[in-house]
This record gives sequence, structure tokens and C-alpha cells, in this order.
Amino acid sequence: MSFEKSEQLYKEAKDVILGGVNSPSRSYKGIGGGTPVFMKKGKGPYFWDEDDNQYIDYLAAYGPIITGHAHPHITKAIQEAAEDGVLFGTPTTHENRFAHMLRDAIPSLERVRFVNSGTEAVMTTIRVARAYTGRDKIIKFAGCYHGHSDLVLVAAGSGPSTLGNPDSAGVTESIAKEVITVPFNDIDAFEEALNHWGNEIAGVLVEPIVGNFGIVEPKPGFLKSVNELAHEAGALVIYDEVITAFRFMYGGAQNLLGVEPDLTALGKIIGGGLPIGAYGGKKKIMEEISPLGPAYQAGTMAGNPASVRAGIACLEVLQQTNVYEKLDLLGQQLEKGIKNSADQHGVPVTINRLKGALTVYFDVEHVSNYEHAEESNGDKFAYFFKELLKRGINLAPSKYEAWFLTTEHSEADVNDTIKAVDDVFLNWKYA
Ligand code: PMP
Repeated sequence: MSFEKSEQLYKEAKDVILGGVNSPSRSYKGIGGGTPVFMKKGKGPYFWDEDDNQYIDYLAAYGPIITGHAHPHITKAIQEAAEDGVLFGTPTTHENRFAHMLRDAIPSLERVRFVNSGTEAVMTTIRVARAYTGRDKIIKFAGCYHGHSDLVLVAAGSGPSTLGNPDSAGVTESIAKEVITVPFNDIDAFEEALNHWGNEIAGVLVEPIVGNFGIVEPKPGFLKSVNELAHEAGALVIYDEVITAFRFMYGGAQNLLGVEPDLTALGKIIGGGLPIGAYGGKKKIMEEISPLGPAYQAGTMAGNPASVRAGIACLEVLQQTNVYEKLDLLGQQLEKGIKNSADQHGVPVTINRLKGALTVYFDVEHVSNYEHAEESNGDKFAYFFKELLKRGINLAPSKYEAWFLTTEHSEADVNDTIKAVDDVFLNWKYA
């Protein structure tokens, strides 16, 4: 397999685009470097790079592409939007329809607002929580990514529940002091944080099922306890469902798990591949937002017809029967195939999977928080990634990301993937 054109394009890119990529995770920095593959075209579960190599895609653009590339129903919606005009700066009927679809699927969204990215959605839920409670601080869980707004680029301090440190240059100490980071799935650490700062906490930001240090489910009762303790302390509960909404069922992780937050942030899948974000929640809380309330949020592109019509079309595809059953069955098949092959060749892997999303960790026995994921072997993941790429299987280039199946993957695609994995494990350089 030649990557000649990608190599040339990467050289050209670095000369004009900072770092050659428009989002750092697209560089291969996290896997020891290399040339990111430049994709040219995608169809269904496949995409093709500029050197005309074909891949089975498990990156799914970091999540949004749940119906595969260029799904005809979504393509048609985008074409129609283009013909009708993509931006008016006025309300449209499509926004009403889409907001109803979201609320029907996720009833805690009594009122909704559309924005343009997951980052914006999360950032605004924090503002709403602060406006509503009149408090400043937030609690987040270690290793969970919530976009790149200042407040959420804060990492854990040294203890189990301490004030945070900036995780990025340009995020000030004074901002980091507003964030308390505790380990996911550790209700004692959470309670300790509330005992210490409870009356200063505006909101608790939670990925109800983690997608950002691999797929990690909450322990039974964890989210319920978080809700109860947060509410006792007078704090709001904010679910970041940017990855999870419509990923595991038609609705949110909150529906799947039977827990209800006060506010929810959405993105990714709900745009059908076009840029979008949304946030919403209890009416009386959302009424803090302008034009009804004193908290400001706006957007020239917010609710633009192209993204909204693509999002409606994507949800329509996901409403079809058996979509999530199929994703689950393919996920089972993939998990079982990788695990069997790893066992056969003596490669120590742990696979966390929920329905059509999974993560393969090397050299750790169990992953239920960030620390465990950190301990997984990054060198082995990097080798696995690069060897699979050469065999036409494309994953996200990070040991912390998930594999995402789409509605367009077939059993044959999964079998081909397992064969490629088996070949990599057969020739495993760490054996
Ligand atoms: N929240 C979560 C859980 C995410 O995974 C991401 C993106 N990976 C974001 C927020 C930010 O979304 P965006 O990249 O659309 O700004």
C-alpha cells in the first residue's frame, strides 16, 4: 500500500495549515507520529484516500457518521437544502421540526437551542447552570473531554478531588480554580468534593457513558447517586451527550440508563455529518437564556437549514426498525472476533463495548476510569493502528478513542476486519 500522495499533501499542508491538520487529533502525534491519511471520498462503511487505497472505516469522523458516508437519504436532504438556500438568519420550519424530534426522543429537553458544535453546546450549558444557580464552580470527571472552551480544558489536580490545573496554555489559573475534577465511577471522591465545595457548585458535567477514554460505562447506581448528591447540594446536573445521544438507542444515554439530567449538550450524530450542536433542558432553567433571560448565547449559523435538514434526515434513518439491534449484533461479532484472535495469539487485550461502539485496550485488565485507560499500552496500540491501516482498516489514531460501527457495515465487513486483526496478531511484534 502506497501513501505517496498523502505524504506529499501533508508536506504541503504543514506549509499553510498549522501543524497540517485542522484538529490536533487528526495528526498522528498520539501514536508516535506518521503521515495522516488524506481521504478523498467515502461511501457507506468505506472510504478511499488520495492514493486510492480503500479502507473499512471505524473512525466515523469521531462519531457523527453513524449512517455511513454519503447516505442517500442525507445526501438528498443536503442537496435540497442547497437548492433552497442554506442560510437565512431567520427562523425556519425545519428548526421547529427538528427540535420536536429531539424532544420526542429525549423528553428532558423541554426547551432546546441549536448551536454549531459540541464545544459550544457544552460551554453554554455551563453558562446556563451558572446563571441559574448564581454559583461559579463546576465539577467534571477526569479524562472526559467536553470540547475546547476554557473551563473544560482543565485537568485533575494531584489528589482524588482537588481544584484543577490548566490543561492548555492560555487557560488561566483563575479559570482552572473554578473546576473540580474527580475520577469517573468514584462516588466517594464525588461526595468528598461536594462536602468541600458543595455550596459553590453550579453544575456537574457528566459524560453518562464515557466516550473519550474509550467506551466506559457508569457502574450501576453511579449516575443516580451523582444526581441525588448534586441536587442535594443545589447544583445542576449537565449531561454531555455529544457522543452518546443516538449512539446506543434512538434517544440519549439518559433514556437508556433511566436517569435524567437538568441540562443536556448534543452534537455529532444529530448533524448527519454537518456542523451542529444543541443544548436543552428543563424549561425553567433554559429560560435563563436570551431573549427570555439574562444569560447570552447567539449564533449566525445556529440552526442553519443545511445542518438541520441533514440532522432530520439522519434521525429519520435511525428511526427505522432494527437499526440499533444491527449495530449491537455487529458490535458483538467484532468484539468476539478480536478477543478470540487476541487470546489465540496470546495478545493481552481488554475490550470495552456497548452496542456498536468499542475500545480495544492493551495490557490492562479492566478499564472503568481514566487512570486505567492511561495505563493501557500506547506503543502497542500505535503498532496495532499502523498495521491495521496497512491492511485497509481505519481507526481513530489514539488509544483513548472508540471504534464506531455504522448502519452500513455488514457482517462481511466485520469478518474482513477480524481477518485483518488476526493477521496483525499473528505477526505481533511484541510476542
Ligand atoms: N463533548 C464530547 C463528549 C465530545 O466527544 C466532543 C468532541 N469529541 C465534544 C464535546 C466537542 O464537540 P465538537 O468537536 O463538535 O466541538
